[in-house]
Amino acid sequence: MKRGVVVHGGAGSPRNLSDGPANAATAAMNLLRKGGRAVDASAEATRVMEDDDRFNAGTGSVLRLDGNAYMDAAVMDSEENCGVVAYLTRTKNPVLVARKVMESPHVFLAADGAVDFARENGFDDYDPRTPKSRKRLEKGSDDFRKGSRPEWPRNWKNYKVDTVGAVAMDGMGRFAAAGSTGGTFPALKGRVGDIAMIGCGIFAGPEGAVAATGIGEEIIRKVLSKTVYDYMCNGLSAQEAADKGVSLYDRSVSIGIISINSVGVGIASTTDMASHQLTE
Ligand code: ASP
Repeated sequence: MKRGVVVHGGAGSPRNLSDGPANAATAAMNLLRKGGRAVDASAEATRVMEDDDRFNAGTGSVLRLDGNAYMDAAVMDSEENCGVVAYLTRTKNPVLVARKVMESPHVFLAADGAVDFARENGFDDYDPRTPKSRKRLEKGSDDFRKGSRPEWPRNWKNYKVDTVGAVAMDGMGRFAAAGSTGGTFPALKGRVGDIAMIGCGIFAGPEGAVAATGIGEEIIRKVLSKTVYDYMCNGLSAQEAADKGVSLYDRSVSIGIISINSVGVGIASTTDMASHQLTE
């Protein structure tokens, strides 16, 4: 394989939304064909998905119970560079802010400091809320009040996910992973998910790259992306590693994994998951 990219639209996203990941994968592959780096390709794919308001990242992110979107995004490449933002508000493309953090002296910026950093780096004030995300908040918080609270927070069946992510390999054999999310719904103000934790939501190293989606709390407990990466280091194919990662969970937990190494890609999930792969 000379180069490749895989994009997902989140655990639980219907397969008939696969045109979203397909557009994102095409944009990333165009960049790779021009000699672009894996890290920029994975960020570009994720940016395209953030701008597609059918998915839970950037525009269209789910809202917390206080009515605001708090977004997490991360990028990592196989040269141990990473950039993360958590709890970012009022910004169009969190993944591009994370990409900027990668070039800063730091790895991780959160909350108000992340917003200040975004503004200083040319990312204007932007409201990512949509009519659909507002409606989901009204309906979901009603359900939350009426029924699911006694079982909360482990009754994951009642949670909405469908965050976005991408993995890529460039023509130089470098790998990268990126992810972006509005988090799970419903969630308390203050909640930060797996995307913000390197090794959990995404991981990249010299042997490949992995991005996970689903219930962040469950992903964090198993440091899932690094675990799947280690499976590839131990000789499993990208597909076998993704399958093994998903098999760590009960089928009732929404989990999805995409992976890439120098010979192939993997896609696995416990639920439907819109995704697309391009390799050549
Ligand atoms: N993993 C994300 C989170 O928990 C949600 C998702 O994948 O849809 O924040």
